[in-house]
Amino acid sequence: MSIEEIYDAKHDAGGELIAGATGDWEVIIGMEVHAQIASRAKLFSGAPTDFGGEPNDHVSLVDAAMPGMLPVINNFCVEQAVRTGLGLKADINLYSVFDRKNYFYPDLPQGYQISQFKYPIVGRGEVRVDLPDGGTRVVRIERLHLEQDAGKSLHDQHPSMSYVDLNRSGVALMEIVSQPDIRSAEEATLYLEKLRTILRYLGTCDGNMQEGSMRADINVSVRKPGTPLGTRCEIKNVNSMRFIRQAIDYEARRQIDILEDGGEVHQETRLYDPGKGETRAMRSKEESHDYRYFPDPDLLPLELVQGWVDDIAAGLPELPDEKKARFIEAFGLSPYDASVLVAERETADFYEKVAQGRDPKIAANWVITNLFGALNETGKTIAESPVSAEQLGSLLDLLADKTLSSRLAKDVFEIMLETGDDPQKIVADRGLKQVTDTGAIEAAIDRVMAENPDKVEEVKGGKEKLLGWFVGQVMKATQGKANPQIVNEMLRGKFDL
Ligand code: MN
Repeated sequence: MSIEEIYDAKHDAGGELIAGATGDWEVIIGMEVHAQIASRAKLFSGAPTDFGGEPNDHVSLVDAAMPGMLPVINNFCVEQAVRTGLGLKADINLYSVFDRKNYFYPDLPQGYQISQFKYPIVGRGEVRVDLPDGGTRVVRIERLHLEQDAGKSLHDQHPSMSYVDLNRSGVALMEIVSQPDIRSAEEATLYLEKLRTILRYLGTCDGNMQEGSMRADINVSVRKPGTPLGTRCEIKNVNSMRFIRQAIDYEARRQIDILEDGGEVHQETRLYDPGKGETRAMRSKEESHDYRYFPDPDLLPLELVQGWVDDIAAGLPELPDEKKARFIEAFGLSPYDASVLVAERETADFYEKVAQGRDPKIAANWVITNLFGALNETGKTIAESPVSAEQLGSLLDLLADKTLSSRLAKDVFEIMLETGDDPQKIVADRGLKQVTDTGAIEAAIDRVMAENPDKVEEVKGGKEKLLGWFVGQVMKATQGKANPQIVNEMLRGKFDL
């Protein structure tokens, strides 16, 4: 068996496909994700990486490529790349090399980007994508390499001139390259979401797509199932989940139309235009030899010590896949609920606090349905939740000891969201306590029965269905505070049912 075959056997992409609306064509997608390392300094200089700031405020002489300046590797960034590799269950290459990728662009003052070509720091790994039906699908990772970001050309500052902002120049990126294992626009976004989750758990990238911390280059081709791969086009730099879906759907449709008309797809780099909802040709695709890669003579090969890698591995947090498996196993949650809860580390921690010592399924239900629902409506994150995990836990305790009915608990929860008050205080202040005092309930029942002698006769005559109506009347008479189960039992007693 070759190494390739062993690898393919180990990482075979499995699971159900999510079919796109592409008839008998199969859409083949591979992604190259540029993830900015959460580092305060750049990859080869000490300049800050803060988002925003005045143009060219965060630029050292190295980032501006002044003659004679030499790059110095940022050890922290190397560590983050290794952490990420370990989180992707990937091979860590103890020997890797920085190369110069040569091309001219006004926002690239060196005239080349320092990247890794033949010897990347991280080799093959995998991402387990969580599907909506609770299943998972493996997308294989081909490699992860370290490289510098470029600057930015500003075309909207002056009527006849373009300006260059080098604040981003030299910022550390991890380019994470997947195998072409993705089969639909939906899978592509699920893959990216899962990758983002893993990076955020590891703390190696903040995953903020709006600020450009994660950008995706998407390779799309189409074929009839079972035939060789078709010619692919690369859509550059898409930075929102919605645009990724739209760009893939448009591009697949475009290629299918060309092929069905008897034409052929040309390999090229394309741009997605969100305003028009279409991709358009940017340049014909360059091959790697066009870049004249060669090892950067200013940088030694990067040689890592296995013990250092092992130390990093030992310090990794519990990752989303393991957490999900534990939630299913220990708490009896469905795979879907577990994957919703572990999507962010903060929500998983929040849930665990609520579930601690309580019914874990009821806790999951309250967190996912009631709390997430309310947070979504108000556009708040879990960190901004007006209800703390302790407070939600107390509410569930009041539900468990029957102080509150589930109806009343929902009312109390609404007030908690508005006021941030403890549930005990709300119950005491507003007298929302569920009435389990049988004397009070019996009095209410007797009153309702006395007021409705005709209905009493009907029930006695065998019309048992009317019992529900009586329960409703008694609940009304107690302003919803009576325990409905007790009401039901006592009514049955009165009617000898
Ligand atoms: Mn790149």
